Amino acid sequence: MTNRPKLVVANRKMNGNLPDNARFLQSVLQETRHHRARYAVCPPHPYLQQAQQLLQHSHVAWGGQNMSRFERGAYTGSVSPLMLKEFGCTYVIIGHSERRLRGHESDESCGERFEAALKAGLTPILCIGETLEEYELGETDLVVVRQLNPVISHVGIQALAKGVIAYEPIWAIGTGKAASPQHAQAILSFIRGHIGLLDEQVAEQITLLYGGSVNPGNAAQLMSMPDVDGGLIGGASLIVEDFIQICQIANELSSLKSAA
Ligand code: PEP
Repeated sequence: MTNRPKLVVANRKMNGNLPDNARFLQSVLQETRHHRARYAVCPPHPYLQQAQQLLQHSHVAWGGQNMSRFERGAYTGSVSPLMLKEFGCTYVIIGHSERRLRGHESDESCGERFEAALKAGLTPILCIGETLEEYELGETDLVVVRQLNPVISHVGIQALAKGVIAYEPIWAIGTGKAASPQHAQAILSFIRGHIGLLDEQVAEQITLLYGGSVNPGNAAQLMSMPDVDGGLIGGASLIVEDFIQICQIANELSSLKSAA
């Protein structure tokens, strides 16, 4: 295993307001300032400028929750990769299940937007994961390969390493029922192995996250799994104390890794 410091990303979804965001961002900045783990916050798009003002020149990155594959044009309600870049984003979430299901985003469109994000100099965080039905049918491996392959076709295996992959079982998102650490590890190890069939170095380098009801009580077990390089955090990023506890756990695990 390479020595990958943990990455913790807050997906704040459609939550927050100016004063609440400011409290959240200032606390995260303050409480994690000497950490080795890596952090990013993805607020709703209107608050990216606030994130830029408060986080610039700090160790905490920020990103968008979605984007168009187009740079500009008649796409009402969409945000372009160039706009995210202009507001200093490092990351952009691509293919979150809430967008795949409600916004009818296809695997193919996720591949196109992963490519567009890289072209703009953003780090895409590709979300993949199965429904409860697919999980119960034992189809998780098939689903994650089906979601990953269009991305690899678009960008090639080498460029995949410039992004992040978040395994987020849909049945675990916002339900309070996280996957067991063993399940998260099994699927992330399978994903790393699938990538490794094409390029072992990319498999070794790429950052793989687990997302789905991570909280301060289960974060240590989940993130100490060898193929779990960090977490994508939804609900627990709305409670600043909980998010900071998760960051502290990630940092302790990152420090242990560096000492090992
Ligand atoms: C998410 O939606 O990306 C997520 C991980 O949500 P939660 O932590 O609330 O399950």
